[in-house]
Amino acid sequence: MISFSTTQIVDYLKSKDPAIHHFLLEKADRYRQENRGRAVYFRGLIEYSNICSQNCFYCGLRRDNLFIKRYHLDREEIISLAMEAHNNGYQSICLQSGQVSSSKEIDLVAEVVATIKELSGKKGQGLGITLSLGELSYQQYQQLWNAGAHRYLLRIETSNPVLFQKIHPPEQSFSRRLECLQALREIGYQVGTGVMIGFPGQSYEDLAYDLQFFREKDIDMLGMGPYIPHPDVPLADEKKEYISDVFGTSIKMLALARIMMPDINMVASTALQSIHPDGLKMGLKAGANIVMPILTPEKNRQDYMLYANKKHSAFETLQQDIKAAGYEPTLWQWGDSPHYFKRKREQAKGE
Ligand code: SF4
Repeated sequence: MISFSTTQIVDYLKSKDPAIHHFLLEKADRYRQENRGRAVYFRGLIEYSNICSQNCFYCGLRRDNLFIKRYHLDREEIISLAMEAHNNGYQSICLQSGQVSSSKEIDLVAEVVATIKELSGKKGQGLGITLSLGELSYQQYQQLWNAGAHRYLLRIETSNPVLFQKIHPPEQSFSRRLECLQALREIGYQVGTGVMIGFPGQSYEDLAYDLQFFREKDIDMLGMGPYIPHPDVPLADEKKEYISDVFGTSIKMLALARIMMPDINMVASTALQSIHPDGLKMGLKAGANIVMPILTPEKNRQDYMLYANKKHSAFETLQQDIKAAGYEPTLWQWGDSPHYFKRKREQAKGE
């Protein structure tokens, strides 16, 4: 495993030299092929609710954004979308929503997860279920794990506590986010986190610390994407931008992450695909091995805008684009993070 100093990472990120860009991509692709092969796994993304109790300054779903129509798919609709995905070859789905931590909501999600596991389990190992529902209590994470979910995505957004506080209201804290990541790990989830790249106030040094944070926290999955402003949120008015080439920096961040953490799963984010026509291809070349096609019903998609101009590619198009980039779209496999199994083995040895 390769380590870089903060200064080295900053130099790589700031560099405009095409040779550095090429060097990082070539190394990342080699590491990815040695550790994860050419396979690209799918996580069908079902954004089942855009209702959120939180007020993050950068997000279109924030509680105080009155310009969106709120929705919540009903139980049957979520299960039917999951089963349709399963019939089409998906082995994993991701259920995502704004943060709602009432016991009624968590009971509903737990019941939906258990039902999907039972129905899909009739054919082989069934669907792998990733959740992305924000900060919940330890007991609620445990309840969802017991229901059958086994991966959880909770982005830290920035590893700099001061910056974190600048992009979140006072009632949301960095330490609480860390506690949640720790709880997920203790319960046994494959834990994913990530950051936005290029938002106002963020420096290249912050990004270097982010990469070191992921390594230090021994994460299993990573989801990073360029920051894309949403017009109806407070951060849209903030102009202090230090990162000049957000797309190029995002690609280099992915490449450095793959070099520093060769056996994790890493997403080629929708945000990356939304800001550049070659976003998917470049993301894969930089070491990403997961894509998350959006399965949310057409009628609701425009209301799940975390940021502006979110792109949607059809499943078939994605598969063609993956092949064209030189990788293998891989259906009927969970494609879990090998890093997770490695750390579990090491943990068992230490006990
Ligand atoms: S980032 Fe998540 S928790 Fe924050 S406002 Fe958006 S949906 Fe809610």
